[in-house]
Amino acid sequence: MTITDYTFEELQNHSFFKNEKPYRIKQIAQWIYTKGVFDFEKMTNLSKEFRNKLKENAKILTIEKTQSVSSKDGTTKFVFKLKDGLFVESVLIPMNEGKITFCISSQVGCAMGCRFCKTATMGFIRNLTPSEIVSQVLLLKSYANLPEKKKFNIVFMGMGEPLHNTENILKAIEILTDKNLMDLSPRRITVSTSGLIEGLKKLAEFPVKVRLAVSLNASNQKQRERIMPITKSNPLNKLIEELKKFPLSNRDRITFEYVLLKDFNDSEEDALRVYDLLNGLKYKINLIPFNPYPGSGFEKPEEKRVLRFQKILTDRNVNAIIRKSKGEDISAACGMLASRKEKENVGE
Ligand code: SF4
Repeated sequence: MTITDYTFEELQNHSFFKNEKPYRIKQIAQWIYTKGVFDFEKMTNLSKEFRNKLKENAKILTIEKTQSVSSKDGTTKFVFKLKDGLFVESVLIPMNEGKITFCISSQVGCAMGCRFCKTATMGFIRNLTPSEIVSQVLLLKSYANLPEKKKFNIVFMGMGEPLHNTENILKAIEILTDKNLMDLSPRRITVSTSGLIEGLKKLAEFPVKVRLAVSLNASNQKQRERIMPITKSNPLNKLIEELKKFPLSNRDRITFEYVLLKDFNDSEEDALRVYDLLNGLKYKINLIPFNPYPGSGFEKPEEKRVLRFQKILTDRNVNAIIRKSKGEDISAACGMLASRKEKENVGE
């Protein structure tokens, strides 16, 4: 059995633990989720016999770190190998005031085909399991060597469209927020979507209320279809309608991500259309000047156009922030995750 695939209650009801005292599960959970110990042998408050049973029959992590590379700005990108030999990437991002964000993957590759995104070039390979998602968080936390009480944020902005793997990401969120396991506040988790309406409905109904980010990147239907093909089956007007129904607490807002592509979606008219489109929603918007990569077909927008775009929105009382992507020098910035190793692997 894979322990990190289950909530605490499920572990309690699992046949594997049938003859064990209930506090044993609590002890194991503390080793894994609080202390970051992933070796049963080191769980010294368990009997030798029980440790042997665990070693023979149970697993904790389902991924292993193969590579990490740090950027000048402190961002660290990790390549993780999955049991079937595929690879995914996660990124550890130091933020202001000592905060830390883990950017994690939900799929190997991605089926959404966004034109500005490097992951899209891999195509879709497979969904990650709950344990593969939880394992990324455990390994990043362990690498960051955070004190037990130190808080961190998780964003589903790595490889893949999380709402194309809704069942498994919701399960992983349940495990990460479980009071008896990692006990992470749901407000520290952000699910970022390209706008899959069916997935949004499921997320809206899910009892654990996480934060929502939407990758917008265009100011009208036609323009969005050109860079985000899923817009054909998930039209912009329907997406906005759905977002208007999305449950938000009083202080909460939706975050829109808008990658600015030179001479494509960075004009004053675009800024005005974005304002009209989102009018009526509680939101903030991150403006992200595009990071070109070989073969992307788009260029970085001019700074004065980025500033103009921002001003049009801020003049209308919109919270619009220009985000300089971190980790640019190690290909860990937004839309730049794609494991070369993984591609080699697929070709075999
Ligand atoms: S931007 Fe996100 S949804 Fe679009 S292809 Fe890349 S990983 Fe997939």
